[in-house]
Amino acid sequence: MTKLFGPVFVVSIFFFLGLMHHLRSFSIVFVGLILLVISQTSIQQDLPISRELVDSFGTDTLTNASSDTIRIRISSVGDIMAHQTQLTAQKQEDGTYNFENNFQYMQALFGSVDIMIGNLETTFAGEEKGYSAYPQFNTPDALAAAIKKSGINLVATANNHTYDNGGEAMLRTLDVLHENKLESIGTQKSIDEKNYVIREVKGVKIGLASYTYESGKNEQGLKTINGLAVSKAHEPLLNSFDPYEPTADLKKMQEVVRKMKSDSAEFVVFVVHWGKEYMQEPSKSQLEVAHALNTAGVDVIFGSHPHVVQPIDFLVNDSTDHVTFVAYSMGNFISNQRYESVKNYNTEDGLFVGVEFIKLGNQSPQLHKVFYEPTWVNRYKKSEKYIFEVVPARLACKSLDAYNIFNAATESRVSASNRRTINLVELPLSSDSEKYFARYLISHKSELAE
Ligand SMILES: [Zn+2]
Repeated sequence: MTKLFGPVFVVSIFFFLGLMHHLRSFSIVFVGLILLVISQTSIQQDLPISRELVDSFGTDTLTNASSDTIRIRISSVGDIMAHQTQLTAQKQEDGTYNFENNFQYMQALFGSVDIMIGNLETTFAGEEKGYSAYPQFNTPDALAAAIKKSGINLVATANNHTYDNGGEAMLRTLDVLHENKLESIGTQKSIDEKNYVIREVKGVKIGLASYTYESGKNEQGLKTINGLAVSKAHEPLLNSFDPYEPTADLKKMQEVVRKMKSDSAEFVVFVVHWGKEYMQEPSKSQLEVAHALNTAGVDVIFGSHPHVVQPIDFLVNDSTDHVTFVAYSMGNFISNQRYESVKNYNTEDGLFVGVEFIKLGNQSPQLHKVFYEPTWVNRYKKSEKYIFEVVPARLACKSLDAYNIFNAATESRVSASNRRTINLVELPLSSDSEKYFARYLISHKSELAE
């Protein structure tokens, strides 16, 4: 819209001059002309949709779309992990922690969507408990401030590390997020709170919920998360499902979708922690949960946990024709899982993926586009200290210096990561998927041939 300021300003001056000279009909013609110019230019600017959004690296050209078309973008990234090497890297000389440099290259993309989701795969149990990493994570609160600064505005807290430091730490984690003005889904402070949120964006109500798989029941029949028994008091505060006996839990999740809809949600998003670690295709359990959510009318599923990226897909319900977009796993957004530590390059890859839906007047919102960017964790040494920076891999390959890709070895590594992720994401799982890919997905595949 900024391009319009010049012409609108000039035309407006003529308009006021016209008024001052009592040339009313002249003025009316000018008002008409102004409105025409604004509407035509808006339409022209709004047409290229997400391709322009992504290629322009986050410039939101669509915020002021024409009056009755509402466009909303919801996006997510994968697991935000904090391994020991990262804690060491982020510790400052004065003993405090700062994680802000980790996400600086993602800010522009994050800022271009309305709801930006991240999965917090750790807890904020407090300094007095002692910071720790794998297998039971306790990260300095400063991570929350960095997440907020990155542009993430909704944090999923239901995952296999939620209960790493017990129930009180699970609740303290929420306090820290909320103090940093970050909304959360997946865990609640009390049973009086809803176990989902309804976020209103541009007048449209969007229901959001997050769930994690459980690691079975213990001998006393208590739910376990990451092998740790969840107390009876805390169990209702954590959204989870038993992947071994899912029937009852899937019904509960479907019930939550119904509640959201009766709470006026027009578009429903689930963030689900599921699947098998390091597997690049969805497990039987993932497919089962995804289909149950599709049956309930969920529009989008953002999945994580496997530490590697898995394909995306569109599920179509046989009886209702409802279409659900699912990203089975968005991989690690940030971690120290990399070839040097786990002998697996795939764990360095992540996915920024999102949907744009449009709503026309009183009609129901419609899925319009699916967009994505491969992400990659760049880790390098500076003054004997590790630097961790998540970069949008496809964009980084195009301007290496701007993303601190300093040498040929790193260049080939980020380029290989970009190729891996594009190939995996754009792998249709069925001929039906192929049809929906062609219709909705903003593809990057042709760039690989260049
Ligand atoms: Zn996990």
